[in-house]
Amino acid sequence: MVKLETIISLAKHRGFVFQSSEIYGGLNGCWDFGPLGVELLKNIKESWWKAMTYRQDVEGVDASILMHPRTWEASGHVTQFSDPMIDNKQSKGRYRADNLIEEYIDRLRKKKKTDQADALEAKLEAASEPIDYYNIIVENQIPDPVSGSTDWTEVRNFNLMFKTFIGPVDDSASTIYLRPESAQGIFVNFKNIMDSSRMKPPFGIAQIGKAFRNEINTKNFLFRTREFEQMEMQYFIKPGSDPEWFEYWKEQRWNWYIKNGIPAESLRFKDHEKLAHYANRATDIEFMFPFGWGEIEGIHSRTDFDLKAHQEFSGKKLEYVDTVTKDRYVPYVIETSGGTTRGLMAFLCNAYTEEKLTDDNGKEDTRIVMKFVPKFSPIKAAVFPLVNKDGMPEFAEKLFNKIQTEFKAQYDTSGAIGRRYRRQDEIGTPFCVTVDGDSVQNGTVTIRERDTMQQERIPAENAVAYIHNKLMNA
Ligand code: ATP
Repeated sequence: MVKLETIISLAKHRGFVFQSSEIYGGLNGCWDFGPLGVELLKNIKESWWKAMTYRQDVEGVDASILMHPRTWEASGHVTQFSDPMIDNKQSKGRYRADNLIEEYIDRLRKKKKTDQADALEAKLEAASEPIDYYNIIVENQIPDPVSGSTDWTEVRNFNLMFKTFIGPVDDSASTIYLRPESAQGIFVNFKNIMDSSRMKPPFGIAQIGKAFRNEINTKNFLFRTREFEQMEMQYFIKPGSDPEWFEYWKEQRWNWYIKNGIPAESLRFKDHEKLAHYANRATDIEFMFPFGWGEIEGIHSRTDFDLKAHQEFSGKKLEYVDTVTKDRYVPYVIETSGGTTRGLMAFLCNAYTEEKLTDDNGKEDTRIVMKFVPKFSPIKAAVFPLVNKDGMPEFAEKLFNKIQTEFKAQYDTSGAIGRRYRRQDEIGTPFCVTVDGDSVQNGTVTIRERDTMQQERIPAENAVAYIHNKLMNA
């Protein structure tokens, strides 16, 4: 398993992901996507958007990040969207109390203290109030993982929503929130979209957009950040049909990760034992990250909780009325809620491959390849003139310009050809096109495929169609 530091370092030096505001020392829990990162992000979103909305029963929306403050009262975020927080009086370290206990359990397991770990896990499972977490920490003398101190404050609930003010006055009457999830933008538009698109249940609304959570501890690179992106879909259905639709969307979402190159052994479903206040069924799709299993997407059966709450708080009817049967109901909802940026991290970790190679002289070497599915690769093709003379650069540049009208491509003239291949392998470019002496003579070029390293000679004029075909069939 690749180390997280290796991924972070490759991401930085090849221009996938940088620390936010790095020249000022960085901003905790925020990251910037560099030239290759934005391409990868865009490709992931495009694949999700196509899978989720290029079908008759799902439409898209792009709601604003700032929403009416009543939204968050109705959704339960104002009173319930908090994590238990604890401070160490001596070290001044601040932790999420449940995470502190989880990490302690992990340490017990590593020391093979299985019985003790199991007992603690059961207690953690049953905990819900701040006092429950506090009692576990104190009774088990759980130390601060950095300083070892057990001198703790009480546990308090900390609301994760970022507050700001709307308009030029900063008083409590003008308080609004940066949305902590994109889902509510879908619920408040349920009626608009159903009416304007003439949809009837079962139908879904999909959205990709930023969300903000003032997480107590940010860590593990893009896994837990304060600003992130989500890809969410709410599927509105007739009450009672929720068990079948829940299974249907579980399968769809699982298959999307498989189709995009994540092997089944790196994925698992983890059913929620403690259900959130809005759910009657919930599962997470987890990915095996370098630090262990972690959620990448949640699939939740949310009943009519959200629409009923918005109905009550807004005073507007949010029901479906069947004009023929006169049947009327507030739809139930199945939600698929994935992280785009957390997903990108999973795709980065999954793609990273080290291969041992032996060259013609028997010399051993390691090849680093980002084995993205080709449609996710930030750069689709690279064009190289073998040497910088004899008409090769002119030929190669012309070909590059042609390829570039269709695909994000790179042109590279520097260093030995092997080094140029390796640079492209390291960013996952599926095709490298080399222009040599024969190209100038007879108009053919070689195309090298990233994973097999096999080369094929084709007419240069077929290069664009060749790449197209391979991408379509990959
Ligand atoms: P966690 O238990 O990890 O805090 P959650 O259960 O609160 O996550 P959801 O509210 O279900 O997460 O959010 C849906 C998805 O949004 C998650 O599966 C994850 O991919 C993404 N996500 C949530 N919080 C963050 C975050 N702080 N940073 C990056 N992605 C996040």
